[in-house]
This record gives sequence, C-alpha cells and structure tokens, in this order.
Amino acid sequence: MPAWDLLVRGGTLVDPAQSISARRDVAFRGGKVAAVAETLTGEATEVIDAAGALVTPGLIDIHTHVYHGLATGRHADQTSLANGVTTVVDAGSAGWMTLRGLRDYVIPTYQTRVFAFLHISATGLTINRIMPELADIKFAQVEEAARTAAENRGLVLGIKVRIAHGATGQGNQANAREALRRGRQAADLAGVRLMVHVSDTPIPLDEILEHLREGDVATHIFNGNAEQVLGPDGRIRAAVRAAKERGVVLDVGHASIHCDVKVARRAIAEGLLPTTISTDLHTPPAGRIVYNLRALMSKFLALGMTLDDVVASVTSRAAAAIGKSSELGSLVPGMTGDAVVMDLEDGHFTYADGAGNEVKATRRFGTRHVIREGRRLPAAHADQL
Ligand SMILES: [Zn+2]
Repeated sequence: MPAWDLLVRGGTLVDPAQSISARRDVAFRGGKVAAVAETLTGEATEVIDAAGALVTPGLIDIHTHVYHGLATGRHADQTSLANGVTTVVDAGSAGWMTLRGLRDYVIPTYQTRVFAFLHISATGLTINRIMPELADIKFAQVEEAARTAAENRGLVLGIKVRIAHGATGQGNQANAREALRRGRQAADLAGVRLMVHVSDTPIPLDEILEHLREGDVATHIFNGNAEQVLGPDGRIRAAVRAAKERGVVLDVGHASIHCDVKVARRAIAEGLLPTTISTDLHTPPAGRIVYNLRALMSKFLALGMTLDDVVASVTSRAAAAIGKSSELGSLVPGMTGDAVVMDLEDGHFTYADGAGNEVKATRRFGTRHVIREGRRLPAAHADQL
C-alpha cells in the first residue's frame, strides 16, 4: 500500500505558522497532513508536481456571504473553493430565524468548510436591500441570538452586528448604539466573538472600538467613509492602534465599496497591516465588482505587503481569528489536509476599488490545484466559476 494518499512535490511551501518559506514536499494521508520535508520519498496514490509553484495551507476567508438562494448569498464551492479557499465564514447572512436553512439545506451541499457569525438581527441579511435590517431595534433579539449561537457551537463562531447608516438607520445614532450594545450582550451570553461592520457608521469609530476586546473582529477596516482608521490629520487614530495592540482583529472585508485604496495605502505606509484579508463575497448591485480572495491577495501584495504576510493574513492569522489554529491555517503534520498550489504569475494587472482608485500589480496569484482534506479536487471543479 502506498505510504501517502497524495504527495505534493517540488513546490515552495509558504507556511507562516511554521515560519517556512522554502522548497518542501508535503504528503497527505487520511485527510490530514502526514509529513513535510525537503525531500519525501515513498509511494503515493497521487503525485502533484508543484515545481515552480507556491504551496500554501488552504485559504480561509473570514468574511463571506454563502447563504446561496437567500438574497445576495453566493455559492461557496463555485466562488471560493474553486479559488483555493477551503474554509469560509459566513458573516451574518443568517440571524436566529434563518440559520437553520443555511445549516440544514445549504452547507450540506458544499464541499467548502463553512462557519458562521450569527447576525444579531433575527432575519440576518434577508431584507437589507429593501430596508436597514436593524432600523427597528426590535429585530435585535439578544436572548434568541445567544441561545441559537450556543445551540450551534460547531457552526456559529460569533455574533455579527452592522453599525452603518444602511443597517441601523440613516443618522440614527441611538439605534446604532443600542444595536452594538445588544450584539455585545449576545456574544457575551453565548461566550463567542463579536464581529462589527465599521464602514459608514453613524457613530464614532473610537466609540465602536471601545466595545471590542481581544479576539473580536472589526471588519471593513480600510473603508474610506468619514469614520475611518485615519484621523483628520491623516494619521492612524490612536484608538485603532490600541485596538490592534490588544488583539482586536482588523479585517479587510473588501466588498466593492468597503476598501478605499488611498486609505489602505496610507495605513500600510504607517505600519498598520490588516490582521486578515477577506472578500465580503456577495452578489453586488449592478456595476460593482466583488473580488475573490486570490485577487485580493494579489492586490495587497501590490500594496506593499510581503508574500509571507499576505499568506499569513489568509491562513495562520485567519485561523487564529476564528479560533481554529489547532486544525486549520497551517500544514504542520496532523493538521487538516487543506492546501492550495498556486502560481505567482508575472504581468500587468489592475485592481479597482469602489471609489475609482486603482492598484497596478505586476504579480498575480493563480490557482493550479486545490486540495481538500488530503485529496485533489477534480480539475473540472476548479475551473468552474
Ligand atoms: Zn458582509
């Protein structure tokens, strides 16, 4: 019997959790990583020649909307897994009233691993293209949300709340404050993380960050709205630096309008790197683009992050942000056998933001093979978009 189910040979392993960025062979057996070494000999059922390619842990996108069939949800396998994203977090598509559909009828159809943050709004994001989901604070139901999170611990990793004019009501500061308070309360009752949307907020960013502790997530961190990470003097706000220092996850949550190139460029120049890069994958309104995670990795590489740091932000740091570092986000033997074989292609590529700014890139990540639980996905699947 062959020693390995799958052997990925000759690639450059980039695995920030192990501080490896060098030529390594990686072997998989029984759905897990079995061995990593400069050269692995021994028979394998399947061998992938990764010469000239990068090998990384399976990518993790901590902000997506994959409640396919509900409102703006996307199909996780077609948009994420096909691009090397083996794990996604659905960030509040479902509230306590709508979680069961995601859990029982959508996720079981996916090969992509899915976790969720439960929206503090009972309906989740079903209605927000018509009216703000927390315009009536009655939708923010603390006990029901906390109970549902507690009853679904394997799936629900945290509570989501959107503090935005479009979520809590145009200019409605009282509602925004109460929604934030209820989100915090539900997260604390269930003993889980809190993820807060911080783009286009009716209340000061500093005030929102006061509610976030180590492990909580601020998403849309490089938005270009009034309450952004840069203060009026163009420098990083002290409250943002303090949040990062105490371990609040600063997440990109790119979408089409929540990541302004000028803000990202300035913040990175000032040394404020994102903890995690994520897509906010959803179906955007006509005329807007939502990039997949691989494209955003290329964009942030062009914005000056190092290759290792870009990979860390979608592997080791993303796994840590969702409390899954012991299983995901690295290719240490014994971990879940998720990996991606990528080419770093040379050329001229342009990445836009919602404000009309562009980033010019000379390198781009391309997916060669996706490996999920120790098995290479069929090529036909990886081609599907
Ligand atoms: Zn979102």
